[in-house]
Amino acid sequence: MRFDIMTLFPDLVETVLSESIIGRARKAGIIDIHSHNIRDYSKNKHRHVDDTPYGGGKGMLMSPVPIYDCYLDVIDPAKNPSERRHVVYMSPQGNVLTQAKAREFAEKYDDIIFLCGHYEGVDQRIIDEIVDEELSIGDYVLTGGEIPACIVVDAVSRLIPGVLADAECFEKESFTDENLLEYPQYTRPYEFLGRKVPDVLISGHHANIEKWREEQALAKTKAVRPELYERKMKEIAENTAKTKKKK
Ligand code: SAM
Repeated sequence: MRFDIMTLFPDLVETVLSESIIGRARKAGIIDIHSHNIRDYSKNKHRHVDDTPYGGGKGMLMSPVPIYDCYLDVIDPAKNPSERRHVVYMSPQGNVLTQAKAREFAEKYDDIIFLCGHYEGVDQRIIDEIVDEELSIGDYVLTGGEIPACIVVDAVSRLIPGVLADAECFEKESFTDENLLEYPQYTRPYEFLGRKVPDVLISGHHANIEKWREEQALAKTKAVRPELYERKMKEIAENTAKTKKKK
């Protein structure tokens, strides 16, 4: 899968996406990430990419011109006249990223282009011209779209076959079942500061371990995300009703 990231701070993106699992997946050629410096497309002699907003107001807005030139370079319409690539603008005004959205991206697209805003954001006309969807990483405002884009690339990449050593890793994680968090996990040592690993986990009884994990996952979800728990309970009740009806 290929990701192109249009940004004013490519070094920031490269630093985050060169380490650990994502860095290894890039080296192995499973994912391909290219960052593009929007400033390289400024025609201004001072390489400016922003200007004051029409109508007044504080702060600076990114001009649509260098972003569009950068975009044309990325899609290269002369070489790829019919190519349509999915363009995502990282924005606090978008729908909030979920595991389901990450899965949709991983399954639906072979490549995605990200636009990262900075300052007060970008001129609306570039959104209208090139953007397919706006995506937020949460209801708060950051200084730029670089960290949000890295978060999306990370969340999508780990769902691509071969990126994680073991597919099991994401098959039972929080939000794999979209209304459920993961159960608590333990590793060595058996005792840490007087706290022991729950007996069931060292019993070797797989059915009991599975049952304990299900109960713990529900208990954790109920404690910290009651709205998810409500949905999960509804889902369980609906499934039970369906099974009864079939019988
Ligand atoms: N003026 C904008 C508004 O009120 O909606 C906020 C601009 S923000 C300071 C600058 C840039 O950071 C945005 O263009 C966007 O790319 C990025 N950004 C900030 N918060 C974000 C979030 N929660 N999710 C995704 N991107 C975000």
